[in-house]
Amino acid sequence: MLRSDSKELLRKVMARFVDKELIPRAQEIDETAQFPMDMFKRIGKMGVYGIRYPRERGGAGGNTTLYCIICEELARGLMSVAAITAMQCLMGTNFLFHYGNEELHEKYFYPAMRGEKVACFCLTEPEAGSDLGNVSTRATKTDEGYVIDGMKTWVTNGPVADFYTVLCQTDPAKKFKGLNFFFVPADTPGVKVSKPFDLLGTRTTLISEVSFNNVKIPRHHMLGQEGRGLSNLLSILSEIRAMTGALAIGLQRAALDDSIRYAHERVQFGKTIGSYQLIQAKIANMATDLEASKLLVYKATEMIDNKVPCLKEASMAKYFATEAACRAADEATRIFGAYAYSMEYSPQRYYRDNRFLLYGGGTHEILQTNIARWAGL
Ligand SMILES: Cc1cc2nc3c(=O)[nH]c(=O)nc-3n(C[C@H](O)[C@H](O)[C@H](O)COP(=O)(O)OP(=O)(O)OC[C@H]3O[C@@H](n4cnc5c(N)ncnc54)[C@H](O)[C@@H]3O)c2cc1C
Repeated sequence: MLRSDSKELLRKVMARFVDKELIPRAQEIDETAQFPMDMFKRIGKMGVYGIRYPRERGGAGGNTTLYCIICEELARGLMSVAAITAMQCLMGTNFLFHYGNEELHEKYFYPAMRGEKVACFCLTEPEAGSDLGNVSTRATKTDEGYVIDGMKTWVTNGPVADFYTVLCQTDPAKKFKGLNFFFVPADTPGVKVSKPFDLLGTRTTLISEVSFNNVKIPRHHMLGQEGRGLSNLLSILSEIRAMTGALAIGLQRAALDDSIRYAHERVQFGKTIGSYQLIQAKIANMATDLEASKLLVYKATEMIDNKVPCLKEASMAKYFATEAACRAADEATRIFGAYAYSMEYSPQRYYRDNRFLLYGGGTHEILQTNIARWAGL
């Protein structure tokens, strides 16, 4: 079982795992474009998925800072595995933990904590991306419970998930107040999963459409008090944004470490390329971006852990750290020269995987709009 009493200890345990077990297999896992089930189960056995949940409920009794340290370290190894883990610890299980009854916990939550069941989170629809008010997947109340009809898309883990947390509209007249979350086991009749999408990056994080056709679920599968779906979602939005920032820190560290190593090794014109000031400037910018990202992200996680509202700080953290990750991946591809263009070397993966960070938890155009408003515009 994972111990959560100390940030340093947790970081050490995760770093050892990443260095010994994840980095050596990162390229091979990425090339398969298959869900890394063995890695998923291995991380489950370490007790990682329960990091945010109390010990008496099968968790490790940690907090958001510890969760983000895990995400950061895993992202240093392989973004896909970090993304799957982030989903399992937070969005995929959060609503089940808080609002599922004991029967659902026994059957799904505890096994998910052990890495025996895969979770996912279904918000996005073909016509509802940033605009969640437009969600049209309908949950209709019946005498027995609810019937769900509609289609979700871009569902991370969709092809391999054992259960879905699905945002549905129960009463279009109520608009945002009609949005509610529902728990749907993957084997419920009427649930259909598409073929996995062919992705640019994070290729082992399988993503698909999931459609719901006359899917009947009992009443207690509504997760949360009726009408509070959106406010319950907002209650974890800061955490989602801080987590994405932590993933971005992991990618920046990987790109920086590899770039420094390469700059020490590669000799041109009789000197290592690291001795040239233009290469040094790139390393200096990457290192400074990394430091600033850490300050922003871990300031936000500390605020979350101290229950201080921090949507602004978490949004800035996600925005800055993710843009910095894009810059870091770009610089790594320049420092490696032509070798960055080869699939044998790591920069191409950082260059593809950093795109993953741009969309979830709010696109940067949405974040910039919010930040400008908070700044007084
Ligand atoms: C790898 C990956 C994994 C994902 N996993 C999941 C998942 O597990 N579950 C899930 O529910 N969803 C998931 N998503 C979907 C993700 O949440 C959406 O991509 C995101 O909400 C944005 O929606 P969209 O892509 O439809 O873009 P749109 O909302 O259509 O936006 C398109 C463009 O218009 C801009 N734009 C939109 N509205 C405004 C505005 N008001 N002002 C200025 N610009 C605007 C956007 O910033 C963007 O540049 C995933 C996406 C990706 C790429």
